[in-house]
This record gives sequence, structure tokens and C-alpha cells, in this order.
Amino acid sequence: MPVAATGAAVRVRLAPSPTGTLHIGTARTAVFNWLFARRHGGQFLLRIEDTDRERSKPEYTTNILDGLQWLGLTWDGDPVIQSERIAAHRATIQALLDSGHAYRCYASEAELTAMRERQAAENRAPRYDNRHRDLSPEQEQAFIAEGREATIRFRIDDDALITWTDLVRGEMRWAGSDLGGDMVIARRAPSDQIGDPLYNLVVVVDDAAMAITHVIRGEDHIANTAKQLLLYQALGLPAPMFAHTPLILNQEGRKLSKRDGVTSVSDFRAMGYTAEALANYMTLLGWSPPEGMGERFTLAEAAAVFDFERVNRAGARFDWDKLNWLNGQVLHGLDPETLRQQLLPLWQERGWATSGPAAELDWQRDLCALLGPSLTLLADGVAQAEPFFSVPSADEAALQQLASPGAREGLAALSERLPASDQPFSAEQAQALLSEAVAAAGIKKGVLMKSLRAALLGSLQGPDLLTTWLLLHRCGGDRPRLERALAAAA
Ligand code: GLU
Repeated sequence: MPVAATGAAVRVRLAPSPTGTLHIGTARTAVFNWLFARRHGGQFLLRIEDTDRERSKPEYTTNILDGLQWLGLTWDGDPVIQSERIAAHRATIQALLDSGHAYRCYASEAELTAMRERQAAENRAPRYDNRHRDLSPEQEQAFIAEGREATIRFRIDDDALITWTDLVRGEMRWAGSDLGGDMVIARRAPSDQIGDPLYNLVVVVDDAAMAITHVIRGEDHIANTAKQLLLYQALGLPAPMFAHTPLILNQEGRKLSKRDGVTSVSDFRAMGYTAEALANYMTLLGWSPPEGMGERFTLAEAAAVFDFERVNRAGARFDWDKLNWLNGQVLHGLDPETLRQQLLPLWQERGWATSGPAAELDWQRDLCALLGPSLTLLADGVAQAEPFFSVPSADEAALQQLASPGAREGLAALSERLPASDQPFSAEQAQALLSEAVAAAGIKKGVLMKSLRAALLGSLQGPDLLTTWLLLHRCGGDRPRLERALAAAA
């Protein structure tokens, strides 16, 4: 596959608009850019497209940068801030005016609306009819004398044919007549000024200035690519190569949108997904790993083999089950210490694990070793850890168990024999103690085991009972739980 049109080193960019939090679609575009750059030893650059002054907010920029960093999508160099480049954008517009590729259009909003309504009534696609393309100096003066302001439009010839070889979609052809007429590249302003430059123009100016070799972005930008290629041509600039990636679809097969609920990377993070699983999942959204690689891999592993030939053209349906499965796989594979580092801040947010034996590294690590294998989300490691940090209230089934025949006697016998929490207590001792208590209370072992679980965890479900008990013993948590259960059973 050709790597760069010019043979130059790969330089790609992500160009998010800080008008919202980091969307999963943008993050997935970032993944493909990052993988491609790393595969070819190239540069992954960032450009913050903040020219929409009303909707852009610094907190969104922060959210986007944080999200990328969290996912491990490190970028090269400082992000380019688009609003700081407005002089270059204006200079390019002036050059296009000077070369005759662009002109001022004085059509008012009311006239443009009337034009579109007429087109709609005639069942025609909306397009600008190029009415001010060739105004005479006198006509122009007359509009100015009326006090009209002007947009600046770039000429798009109807008979232009735009073609490119898309790295995902292959040969692409676009007719000039399908681009909606001459395109506005600067907002309305007095005719001796250049109004705010618009998206297609600024992207071309910035991509060229950043020497971008490959533009990798969602397929919703295909029509923009056709327009941008005309701008490259008019400006005499070499065009980058393009790769248009498939959209992310919801369960119903429609484009994933805000209405689908969770769409921001920060939302996924707050729900307890790990960066590794989310990055892994996003890579699978549109890319098929080579045979034998399986579906579980790190970004670095994917980067070693990534290419556009394995990027699908069809939209990628979002699959929660697969994401959950991947997240579980990641969590189950973490060593207890790594898991501890991820869970500790969440525990501490709740005021847990801050003092006494529960603040000790070994104890926390052992708790993580116990809980790790049953986690799907990181948040499960909060819910499942709760009974270890505070005496749980018993649920309905646990209460029933504690009220069942023999439960009280068994737990009382256990409680009487329980060594102090600062005494060493091994699994063997715990087993022996259980046997003694069973004998003393004259009950079945199963009854005592179930009752002990109800007492310690407030539930009949949970991780390995003996390990749970030993952990609680080490932090002095078994006695208060047994006493509380005895009081409840009384
Ligand atoms: N700011 C644009 C967006 O977020 C960038 C598109 C592009 O990559 O050119 O959609």
C-alpha cells in the first residue's frame, strides 16, 4: 500500500472541535490515526478546532486532552490551536480572491432562503445558484451602496470531477455539480473585510501548514474531502491521502448519537471501563485483526499490524456485550497491585481504606486478588468491596438464613472461639474452628457456612468464603459482623 503521496514520513492529525466532551466517534478516529502513525513510525498531531467561538469551551478542550491521554493515545508536540492561526486563514482567502478562485457574494439571508424554498418546491436539491459569481464592478458597488455585507465564496465548477483513492473505500469520484454550488469560505462581513473563515478552508490551510500526509476521519466528511481537494488544487498545494472510516452505529443500526446515552469517553470511564478495554474495543469498531490475533490486544500490539486494508466499509455496530467481555478480560488479567492502584482512589472517594489495617497495602492487595476474577466493571470493585469496609446490612435472603434453625447457635459457637484480630489466623485454623463450632452447636456444616457468609457479607452471594473471612479477620472486621448477625438473629 502506498504510505505517503510524497514519500515523506507519515504525519496524521486529530482535529477535534472543543464544542463537547470527547465523543466515542472522535476517540475511535484518534485510535486509527494513532495506530497508523505508530505503525509507520510517524507523527500523531493534535489540532484543536476552536474557531466556533460561541460553542467552544476550554473545559471541553481539557476533557478531550484528558480522555486521549487516559486512553494512551499520546500525541506528538504541542496541540495546534486553530484560533491562533486566523491570520494565515485570512491571508489564504485573500490569495484566493486575488487569483479569482473566490469572490464576494452579496446575496442576503432572505434571498438565499427564498432561493432554497423555491428549489424545495420544485423538488430540487438545495444549492447556491452562483448568482453573484461574475458581478461587474458597478453591480458590486451598487450592493455596497445599499449597505450590504458579503460572504466570500469559492468557485466550484459544475463540470469539475474530483477523484481520489481512499485508503478505506478505494476509488472515489465526486461531481462538482453535487457540491451545492460555490462554497462559502468566510462568513458575512463588510466588503472591505474578510469575515470569519469557515471549516473547509481552515482545515486545508492548517493541514497543509502541518504537512499532514494522511487525513483519517469519519465517512461523514466525504463530501468535505471533495471540496477540500478543490481548494488544494486552487492553492497549488499537494493534497494528503484520505482514509474515511466507517461510522459507529447504535443497536438499531443508526449513527450513534447523544440520544443513545453514554457516548463520551469520560462517561465510559465513570462507569468503570478501563482505558485498555475501551481502546481495544474501539479498535475493533471497524477494524478486523489479522487471523490468529484474537480480539483481545493492546494498542501497541494492534499498531504493529494495523493497516487500512482491514478497515471495513460498513458501519460498525456498538456491542455492549463485547465491550463488557473485554473489560472483564482486562480486569481479570490485572495483577492485584495494578488493580489496587485503580480501585484505591474509588475506595478513598467513599472514605474507605484510609486508616487501620484496611489502609495497609498487603491487605488491599489480597482483597484485590479475591475480587479481581469476578469483576466486569471497575465499579464492581467498589460495590463488591463495600462489605469489607463497612459492616453491611443484611439483605432479605441473608436475614432469612440468619433466622433459620441452628444459625444462631453455630455463629455463637464460632464467635466464642474466635481469636483476637491481632492473633495469627490461618486457613487451617479457620477450618478447625468451623468444625469445632459445628460440633458444639450440633448443626450441619453447610448451615454454618451459609450463615457465616450472611453474617460477614450481608448476602448469600460473594467471593470465596474462607478467604473473605481471613481478610476480615485481619482488619478486625469479623467480630463486629458476627455480633451484629447474632443480634439480628436473636
Ligand atoms: N473539527 C472537525 C470535526 O471534529 C474535524 C474534521 C476533520 O478531521 O477534518 O469533525
